[in-house]
Amino acid sequence: MPLSDSMGDKLGAVATELLQQLIRFNTVNPPGDEAVAQHFIKGELEEAGFSVELLALEAERPNLIATLPASTPSAAADGPTLALLGHIDTVLADPSEWQADPWGGELREDGCIWGRGAQDMKGQVAAELAAVTELARAGWRPEHGTLKVIVTADEEAGGNFGARWLCEQHPDKVRADVILNEGGGQMFVYEGKRYFRVGCAEKGFCRFNIVTHGKAGHASLPRMGVNALLKQAPLLARLAERQPGYDLTAEPRAILKALFGIDATDADVPELLARIEATDPRLAVLLEPTMGVTLTPTMSRASEKVNVIPAKASVRVDCRVPPGHGVELAERRAREVLGDDDYDLEFGETAIGNGSAHDTPLMDAIVEWVAGVDPDAIAVPSVLPGFTDSRWFREAFPDCVAYGFFPQMKMDMYESDPLIHSADERIPVEDLTLAAEFFAFATRKLLGG
Ligand SMILES: [Zn+2]
Repeated sequence: MPLSDSMGDKLGAVATELLQQLIRFNTVNPPGDEAVAQHFIKGELEEAGFSVELLALEAERPNLIATLPASTPSAAADGPTLALLGHIDTVLADPSEWQADPWGGELREDGCIWGRGAQDMKGQVAAELAAVTELARAGWRPEHGTLKVIVTADEEAGGNFGARWLCEQHPDKVRADVILNEGGGQMFVYEGKRYFRVGCAEKGFCRFNIVTHGKAGHASLPRMGVNALLKQAPLLARLAERQPGYDLTAEPRAILKALFGIDATDADVPELLARIEATDPRLAVLLEPTMGVTLTPTMSRASEKVNVIPAKASVRVDCRVPPGHGVELAERRAREVLGDDDYDLEFGETAIGNGSAHDTPLMDAIVEWVAGVDPDAIAVPSVLPGFTDSRWFREAFPDCVAYGFFPQMKMDMYESDPLIHSADERIPVEDLTLAAEFFAFATRKLLGG
C-alpha cells in the first residue's frame, strides 16, 4: 500500500493536535499522575484498531501496551516485533521562567508547539502515535510480525513504576526484537554536511568519593591540626586541569570515521578533537565526553562546625564510563588524573552502560530514510552520556536492537538539546511532521505492507 501524499500531509496535522493535547496533561514526575494521559492515548489507539492494555504497579501510574499483529497468526510469527517506545512523564517546569504556559501546548507564530515535554518526549510520542494510527486507519496491517506501541510512566525518576517494572514483571507483554526510543535523531552540520545521530548505546556511571584525612583541632589555631579539606585543593585542581586518556568504543569510532574517514585509535583522539574544536567548538563539547571516562566533582563535605578543623573531607564525583566498562577503568582513569597522593577512593553506585549492534535492518531503514531526506546526509551511531528506558529493554532482551531516533532538521541539535529539561521547551511543527513521516516509513519498512 503506497503512503499517499494526502496521508503524508495529514500526519503533521494529526501529530500537532496530539502533541498539543499531550502537553496539556500535566505529567510532571514526581508525582507523574500519568493515568489521564494514558487513557487518552488508549482511546486513540483503540479507535484506530489496536488492542490496548494498561499495566500499573500503582493505579495512578499506568503503562500502556498497544498491539497490532499481522492478519494471521502465522504471518505474525513470521516477522519481528517492532515496538515504538516512549515515556509520557516529564520533569517539572517553573512557569515564571517561561515565555509561554508550560502546559498550554500553544502553537505560536514561530511555527513551534510550546510546552513541557515538546522535546522530551511527548513530541516523539505524538509523532509515533500519528504515524501508527494514520496507517491503521487507512487499513494498513503488518504483512509479517507485530507492531507494538509502548508508552511508559516514570522514566524521569528511574522507571521503577515504568519500564524497569514492565521489563522485570511483564517481560512477555513488552518483549520486542526492534525498538525505537528517544536518545537520538538530532542533526548537526559539520563542514557543510548533515549528520543525524542514531542513539545506539548509553554510557554507564561509577560514582565515587575522594576522601582525604587530617587531624581535628580548633580553627583559631590552624597549625594545631591537619586540615583534610585543604588536602582536597590540589586534587580538585587536577580534576579541573587534566584530561584522562581516551577509551574509544564503537560509536565514537563510527563518528570519527564519518567525520574524517579514518579508523581512529585512542591515541588519535586529542588531535582529532582539536580539529573539531577549531571548526566548531560546540561539537567538541558534545563529542568529547562520548570518547572516554568523565570525572565531574559535584558535592563536597568536610567539618560539621565552622570552628573545627576537619579531620576528614570528601568530594563526590559523578564519573561516567563508556558502555561495557566499570569500576576498573573508572579507578584507573581517576588515579591517572589525581596522581600519587594522600587520598582514598570510595566507590559506590555503579551501572554498566549498554548498547545495541549497528549492522541491523533498523539501521538500514534509518540510513535509507536519511538518504531520501538529504542524499548527502549521513546517519551516525552515537553514544548517549546518560540513560533512557532503552537500558531496561536491552537488559531484559539482550538480543533486541534498540535505537534512539527522533529525527529533527529545522532545529539542529545545538538548539534542541539545551531545551530539554529547560524553560521554553518547544518543537517546530516541521520537525514533528518529519519525525511522524519517519516512524510511518520505518514501521512499514520493518513490518511490510
Ligand atoms: Zn526523555
